[in-house]
Amino acid sequence: MSQPTDRELFWADAVARSLPAGVPHVIRDSKTPSGPVPISGLRGPVITDALYRAFREHGLAVRYVFTIDDYDPMDSQTMREQAGFAEHMGKPFANIPSPDPAVASDFARYHAGRFLATFDRIGIHPEELHWLRDLYRQGKLDRQIDLVLRHADVVRRIYAEVSNVRKDERWMPVWVICENCGRIGTTHATDYDGATVAYECRPDYVPWATGCGHRGRISPFGGNAKLPWNLQWCAMWDHFAVTYEEGGKDLLTSGGSRERSNELYRAIWKKEPPAGLVHEFVTIGGRKMSTSKGIGASAVELVDIYPGELVRFLMLRTHPKRAIEFDPAGMSLPRLVDEYDRCADAYLADPGSDLAKVWRLSQIAEPVAPIVHRVRLSLIADWLQIPSIDPVAEAAKRKKSPLTDAEARDLERRIALARVWLERWAPDEARHSVSTTLPPATAALSDPQRAFLERARDEIGRTADPEAMQERLYEIAKDLGLTNPDGRVSKAAFESIYLSIFGKPNGPRAAWLLVTLDQDFVAKRLEEAARAA
Ligand SMILES: [Zn+2]
Repeated sequence: MSQPTDRELFWADAVARSLPAGVPHVIRDSKTPSGPVPISGLRGPVITDALYRAFREHGLAVRYVFTIDDYDPMDSQTMREQAGFAEHMGKPFANIPSPDPAVASDFARYHAGRFLATFDRIGIHPEELHWLRDLYRQGKLDRQIDLVLRHADVVRRIYAEVSNVRKDERWMPVWVICENCGRIGTTHATDYDGATVAYECRPDYVPWATGCGHRGRISPFGGNAKLPWNLQWCAMWDHFAVTYEEGGKDLLTSGGSRERSNELYRAIWKKEPPAGLVHEFVTIGGRKMSTSKGIGASAVELVDIYPGELVRFLMLRTHPKRAIEFDPAGMSLPRLVDEYDRCADAYLADPGSDLAKVWRLSQIAEPVAPIVHRVRLSLIADWLQIPSIDPVAEAAKRKKSPLTDAEARDLERRIALARVWLERWAPDEARHSVSTTLPPATAALSDPQRAFLERARDEIGRTADPEAMQERLYEIAKDLGLTNPDGRVSKAAFESIYLSIFGKPNGPRAAWLLVTLDQDFVAKRLEEAARAA
């Protein structure tokens, strides 16, 4: 099926089409290694990677640059409250000790390393990775720092105009690392003479760190200082010739960081800032999330549990302009997998459809070919709860031929995921365990239900085909008048089977249970239930 021409383009294609062809493009993304990254922190990188792929597909010459902003000061309130961290508040992340020296040499490398490890798992591969400490210390941003300091008056004016931030007239837009205490967030710099700045490490300069009071004069180059955030952003755009950079809504709102950076870039660098869409927030769990059962808040944990494709899909199935609300509890995960499968079907039917594109951009590796014979996660979860079931054999039975290697691998991954789901998030309706004794609830069965169970018992062993069994159960129910006014079989019929086996009114498909469970066991159980007092 081809798409009507006036139809709205898929978002990634629309962005790709909006960029000029025939010129080199650079797409940039960045991360400040300030601690464990929440799940929401994956949305930006996944969108950027999807755009990078879309740009290439549209024939654009594009380079993908990722920077680790590890020269930023530690300003996190949660860290401040942790034992031993108060003394590091205000220091650059690169200069703070590692939480685990066996894993990484410093705080920034520790947290950036954990985050970057998730990239591999979800198929994100920037072509270039740069650490800001290296760029500053190697003097690669000296030219940018000099340019900014020579335009300090412009910076002060734009800060005031765009975001109503007023700085005193002597203030120089650079953050010096205090030679006495090592803090970068607490210093107030003045008086640039082309080679050095004066600075004072003020005790009350910022609320999240206390400066030591030291005064000095130092070269702002070669790693002794960094640019304030908005200006560092501009320096990155210029240094890497960035043409595209998307970002989260919090940064890109009116008067916010991005708008300020755009104005600074136009005024000081005399260049147009890169284009970039704004993505909405991600809320995970909402109020209902319980920390003991929840997935926690961390990206590392999500990627540990969910297959990479599903993580990408979670972030891409919703248009970047719409908020994602995801609660891993309850039926969310089986529904997410169902939706993922629906998009795989769309890909098989028409690779040009929007759903197909979401599925394809969710893949870790190319070339892609969806598995045709898949088993729903909720069904696998049912299978896993019946000890006599071998899921691989059951899947082959459904397919009516042995599974291919790819199908078997897909099934294995789904089995692993279903196990975690059952253990952590499945609601009570999805949990079934075969009761070893006759459930007391069977005492309340009605006479027609008892009659239904007796006749169902007579069918046990006559067929191994769930479809044939289902057919018989319908006939018997109708025969006994277990029907609704519209003539359809009433819920009461199948409830009697679930109550007999699980002691609760719901479960996996009844006919399937009757042909799958041990035949002697199930026949005996139905008989007992039919006569329960
Ligand atoms: Zn100091």
